[in-house]
Amino acid sequence: MSSSSRKAALASIAGRTPTPAGNSFGSIAESFGINTFGIRQMRAKLPKDVFAKLQSAIRLGKKLDQEIAPTVAQAIKEWATSRGATHYTHWFLPQTGMTAEKHDAFLTFDENKSPLEQFSAAQLIQSEPDASSFPSGGLRATWEARGYTAWNPTSPVFIVESGNVSTLCIPSVFIGYNGEALDEMTPLLRSSDVLSEKAIKLLSVIGDKGVQRVGTTLGPEQEYFLIDRTHFALRPDLVMANRTLLGAPPPRGQQLEDHYFGGIPERIQACIAEVEQELYKLGVPIMTRHNEVAPCQFEMAPLFEETDIAVDHNQLVMSVLRRVAMRHGLQAILHEKPFAGVNGSGKHCNWSMSILADNELDGLNLLKPGKTPHQNVRFLLFLAAVLKGVHKHAGVLRAGIGTSGNEHRLGANEAPPAIISVFMGKTLTQLIEDIAGGKQAGKGAAEALISLGVAKLPEIEKDNTDRNRTSPFAFTGNKFEFRAVGASQSIAWPVTILNAAVAEAIEDLTEQLSAELKKTKKVDDAILKVVRAAFRSTGAVRFEGNNYSDAWVKEAAKRGLLNLRRSPEALAQMQTAGAKKLFTSLGILSKEELESRYHVRMERYVKDMLIEMTMQRELIDTMVLPAVYAYQGNLARAAAEARSAGIKEIPQIERANEIGALAKSLKARRDTLSKVTDKAEHMHDDLEGCAQLVTGPGADAMLAAREVCDTLELLVADDAWPLPKYREMLFPV
Ligand code: ADP
Ligand code: MG
Repeated sequence: MSSSSRKAALASIAGRTPTPAGNSFGSIAESFGINTFGIRQMRAKLPKDVFAKLQSAIRLGKKLDQEIAPTVAQAIKEWATSRGATHYTHWFLPQTGMTAEKHDAFLTFDENKSPLEQFSAAQLIQSEPDASSFPSGGLRATWEARGYTAWNPTSPVFIVESGNVSTLCIPSVFIGYNGEALDEMTPLLRSSDVLSEKAIKLLSVIGDKGVQRVGTTLGPEQEYFLIDRTHFALRPDLVMANRTLLGAPPPRGQQLEDHYFGGIPERIQACIAEVEQELYKLGVPIMTRHNEVAPCQFEMAPLFEETDIAVDHNQLVMSVLRRVAMRHGLQAILHEKPFAGVNGSGKHCNWSMSILADNELDGLNLLKPGKTPHQNVRFLLFLAAVLKGVHKHAGVLRAGIGTSGNEHRLGANEAPPAIISVFMGKTLTQLIEDIAGGKQAGKGAAEALISLGVAKLPEIEKDNTDRNRTSPFAFTGNKFEFRAVGASQSIAWPVTILNAAVAEAIEDLTEQLSAELKKTKKVDDAILKVVRAAFRSTGAVRFEGNNYSDAWVKEAAKRGLLNLRRSPEALAQMQTAGAKKLFTSLGILSKEELESRYHVRMERYVKDMLIEMTMQRELIDTMVLPAVYAYQGNLARAAAEARSAGIKEIPQIERANEIGALAKSLKARRDTLSKVTDKAEHMHDDLEGCAQLVTGPGADAMLAAREVCDTLELLVADDAWPLPKYREMLFPV
């Protein structure tokens, strides 16, 4: 590759016209969900009694009744083939952050060897992929590699149309021979069940009976970059590592703040509209689209849904984005920090708990303030549970977002720091502090609430100040927003941890409340007492100030809060006694399952880092240094010519020397990087040691080498520079 490919890329991009979005798309309402076998299709296609049984299994998160499976399988096959599907696949979330699928044809042969389209209940329910190569963290040795996928009926089956091929996808869990969780979905489903069970018990203790399920709700806001594919293809670092490992900052970054909520360029708009159209057909309720802060950065947010469905849907959002962007000559980049110096991408996970019941409690959001004193103490009780959970398990929550990508984003001035704290907003902070202060301790609940001004709670304004934006975990009126989550990761794991932490806190509060109720008969009085104790003990985790400030780092340390900057130290939190107790006592993960997850994540971190280190070395060796040496040679030749022509002032000499010195320094830094890389590559038996090496000396060596490369990029003639520059990638013409 030479700079001429870069110039050709620029010329071809400048000449491009926008591709219009597919115009066969009618209204959203007409197309919504047509590629899913959801409630609407099931009601139409299934016998009444079968529909009722399936519905109740889905609603309450129960297993599918084996008796109805053949009818359901038949109906699904008829629906799928009528929509052109020829193959089916169990679609699942291995611990790679991506989804996995292996397609099988709807094909069998009858006794006369005539081909038949067939799909049995057994095929719907279970499959045994040759899946020995998925990460299992040592849970499965390859000689006992059998893993099963099993349909998760709570998430509707769907058809993916890619090119001319339509495939029926069956959302599934992926488990080992003895039921060990090998995927991201199994622990999430377990955590939802546990939270539901604990919350139902707590509700029943406070007199709210008849609750069938307490579901968690999730609305993930996805941030991403869209850049031209021609540029992308010329950047091996983006292709290999999803982020630029070199690149001088452009003169104009995001300082003009002209991109945020700005008009969406036509070419991008066409792509996004087509992404949305595919997602609507898949039943993904995308609501919002807008430009983000960085140039070429955008956001897409759905209406919230039941957590496990929202997780599947977010996986679909990520894969449809990647696939459709290519059709438009664009590349979707979901990495947390693809471009140094401009904002990175996160995935704000809006989360709450809501009730399913046959009575008036149905649909109630437990994090939404109510109107009566009882409704409001109940709200405070569940709020207290979240504060307790996050306070106690801040370390594990940090581990849940500990990836190599997020490491560049957390604490990088535009994203929350690695310190997990909770923002409550002005009104609630005042209330919490008044309650914790015990001013009304002597009064009955009703009276206390009135004097605390809680009668006004329904009007709580979402405190959407700048302070809130800097918080990793903010209360936003009727839900919490876990903002520190990374853009490219599967959100199943951080949400599993959140569910678990809150479930444990709910259990704790239930015990305290039951004890309190032996002393007092007035439920609301008892609740307020328990809430007060919880508010008092969790004060350290609440922070309303500017999370980006250095003062907060000091203050957090004083409060004893963890500040885990690097991924290995964050992931180590999965091995603490507290983490083990959390997952095992709630039955969400066994000791071995948790251990395996720790290994998978550590290994992934090390692999990501090694890919970056080897890639950067290659870029330096095969692109940067050759370009620099060649340019230096040109300068020297020009200087020699000038000298022989008798010219006295020869500025090329100075520039050639300057570049020569930088090239020498780059070579030295490249050698340091190379040494660390070689050493790390031979540390297979020492995962922790290797992680320490790459996260410390490895990351430092990459930064040091980059620094010189970026200086050189601004000195070497533009014509001679081989890699697309930030200003070209981020400011398409
Ligand atoms: P913003 O956070 O930008 O102010 P919104 O409050 O409208 O925007 O919502 C952001 C996301 O939060 C959306 O995906 C929305 O569906 C989701 N959300 C709203 N209510 C809930 C809830 N009760 N549980 C989970 N997510 C929710
Ligand atoms: Mg938001």
